[in-house]
Amino acid sequence: MTNEVMMQAFEWETNADGNFYKNLIKNAHELKENGIDALWLPPMCKGTSDMDVGYGIYDLWDLGEFDQKGTVRTKYGTKEELLQAIDALHKEGIKVYADVVLNHKAGADFAEEFEAVMVDQNDRNKEVEAKKTIKGWTGFDFKNRKGKYSDFVWHYYHFSGVDYDENTKTNAVYRIIGENKYWNSGVSSENGNYDYLMNADIDHSHPEVKEEIYKWIDWFLDTTKVDGIRYDALKHIDYDFIEGLSNHILEKKGDNFYFIGEYWKNDEGTINKYLDETNWNIDLFDVPLHYNFKEASESGRDYDMRKIFDDTLMRDYTQNCVTFVDNHDSQPSQSLESWVKDWFKEIAYSIILFRKDGYPCIFAGDYYGIGGENKIPGKKEMLDKMIAIRKKYAYGEQDDYFDHSQVVGWVRRGEEGKSPLVVLITTADDAQKQMFVGKENKNSVFIDISGKVKEEVRIDKEGNGVFKVNAGSVSYWVKKED
Ligand code: CA
Repeated sequence: MTNEVMMQAFEWETNADGNFYKNLIKNAHELKENGIDALWLPPMCKGTSDMDVGYGIYDLWDLGEFDQKGTVRTKYGTKEELLQAIDALHKEGIKVYADVVLNHKAGADFAEEFEAVMVDQNDRNKEVEAKKTIKGWTGFDFKNRKGKYSDFVWHYYHFSGVDYDENTKTNAVYRIIGENKYWNSGVSSENGNYDYLMNADIDHSHPEVKEEIYKWIDWFLDTTKVDGIRYDALKHIDYDFIEGLSNHILEKKGDNFYFIGEYWKNDEGTINKYLDETNWNIDLFDVPLHYNFKEASESGRDYDMRKIFDDTLMRDYTQNCVTFVDNHDSQPSQSLESWVKDWFKEIAYSIILFRKDGYPCIFAGDYYGIGGENKIPGKKEMLDKMIAIRKKYAYGEQDDYFDHSQVVGWVRRGEEGKSPLVVLITTADDAQKQMFVGKENKNSVFIDISGKVKEEVRIDKEGNGVFKVNAGSVSYWVKKED
């Protein structure tokens, strides 16, 4: 299939009423009709409460089945509803990607005493006091699950670090001491070693941990029948572990199984290294492009649009690139807030939907809007139309006109019988640009199907047209149908 579109089905403030899966069942058909080919679902495992978005993961084996953390269902519904939702999406031909949180565990059942050393927040290799006995929340025995699926009990030695000492009531990053034990090495080098992110950090070099997670992933994939995985917090997990786990999955599920990673670092050099280390099996979100969108949206006419692809995966790693405009972490008041300003959203979506490269991911927070206290309306109508245009017109060679700091565009030349697609952006005043759509289109008439510019454009005998765009917007032009 070409011109596929993925959607991130949730945002941070997605309603916690437990109806998310039920709503997916209701919406599955419409999503397919509107051009969504794959859906990235929120974390499916039991978190610390029925409000937990899912990243505060408590039990891998509880998909909304056991009375744990005061709730049977997760934020999104019960296990049964989850499986029904996946089935409904599959019946519509929509692929399902699971958000898998393997970096840490939260909401431990009991605290344990063990040796640990406090380290510098900003340099995790630097010890700031002598090792001592602390009491940390690292014991997980899942009493209410009663050993169903797995009787594995987690202890402090299955983790590499915690952020709290119960004995002294101290918040700090503590590295857990043990024989041949240290932070996992194949992680981001930010903060010296970025193995530790939050909660009880899983030690992926421990053989019992590896065995348990392999056992779990087999069960999870057989149970849910998902088509791909989004690895959460990839930069904090040893890449040897991820490579091994991914290869294990590919052996079981075949080469079409899909992996997407969240490598949240605005640094193209690191991404290259990461793709190399994981044998290019994993697609990565184009974080640099997201940050370029953010900067352009904030700088307005002062941003040089010729730099919009600088250091992006869309430019340098087109085969491993998932493009997005915003996500649940970049939305307002979240941990990595870097929201793209409203006026630039349509421009950003035109770039991820109408260009040749990248697998675009539509954010539910842009599509349905952001809920909670500070609501932001969605752009469903605009995005449905843009997805339809991607599917109908965004084909063929791509001629770029990134020749001006504020007025840029490109032409998709189309394929057999299909109209070319002309995209013209300005971050400043009303503008126009002469663009070539092919001699075969001479004398034809083009219209702006974004609906903004009302004038039609007639193509001259050389195949050129002078296309227009209104101040601070994007227009997309196709051949007028008779
Ligand atoms: Ca880690």
